[in-house]
Amino acid sequence: MPDTSVIVRCKNCLMLNRILHSRLGNKPVCGSCKTVIEVPQEPIWTKAESFDRDIAYWPETLLIVFTATTCLHCKIIEPLVRELALKHAGKLKVMKVDVETDEYLAQRFAVTKTPTFIVYRNAAEVIRVDGAPKDKTDLVTWIENLMGFTSY
Ligand SMILES: [Zn+2]
Repeated sequence: MPDTSVIVRCKNCLMLNRILHSRLGNKPVCGSCKTVIEVPQEPIWTKAESFDRDIAYWPETLLIVFTATTCLHCKIIEPLVRELALKHAGKLKVMKVDVETDEYLAQRFAVTKTPTFIVYRNAAEVIRVDGAPKDKTDLVTWIENLMGFTSY
């Protein structure tokens, strides 16, 4: 497989950095300010305070999963979401919102079902799905198809 690169925005100076996929795990530093660039390789929890910044600073595909600890469907899709985050680290960031503890975000997005998925690209919402996919592998196909539209 060719060693593809990803583009990640530095949280310190906001410069876009191109990073080889194979180096994502080696604490890559920003070419401009030398700050270590964080590239999540697993789903991360987000909160109301950091939510908008998390979206604005991520130029690639961002998947937000609204989830609840008591939700069985959420448990079923959890391993798939983790796998996606690892497999596409740098190109895809996965953020989770706990709708039971984060009522602000749940209300802002009018989430009535869990899991609910919202995908952003270039900080703009592109697609939203309320409720678990019929077949759980649909989720993987769906995300990977969306990522196929990357234009650089
Ligand atoms: Zn920087």
